[in-house]
Amino acid sequence: MKDFKKKEGHKVALIIPEYNNDQYNIDLEPYADLPEGSKRCFICYEKRMDEAYAYAEQNGFAYFATAMTISRQKNSQILNAIGEKLSTRYPKTKYFHSDFKKNKGIDIAKAMRDEYGLYQQTYCGCKYTFLKKK
Ligand code: SF4
Repeated sequence: MKDFKKKEGHKVALIIPEYNNDQYNIDLEPYADLPEGSKRCFICYEKRMDEAYAYAEQNGFAYFATAMTISRQKNSQILNAIGEKLSTRYPKTKYFHSDFKKNKGIDIAKAMRDEYGLYQQTYCGCKYTFLKKK
């Protein structure tokens, strides 16, 4: 992998919080039969964004955004509405509206992925979507 910091001048920290898969499944199980892009996913978006937003506020970040808006399978309007809602819970960190797939965002992201040798997951991660595709 090429050195992102050397070329772009930015250091990107990867923070991996504790993950409670049992609680995640308890929260999503009532929506197990719904398809991808449904209420199940909106709950999933909010759970993930809430944890990340809390971290951003606790660690003095000026802005919070989500990279999920790069995905064609993710509803950017819903993601931004969730971000706005969470911004009232974490008022020290502003929400940054995005729709990273616009303006050739997907092509730019793919080019950067290839340039830096980054991993790109080609599926969404919960067991519900995986089981439905079988
Ligand atoms: S992991 Fe993906 S498919 Fe599963 S609930 Fe979350 S957003 Fe939806």
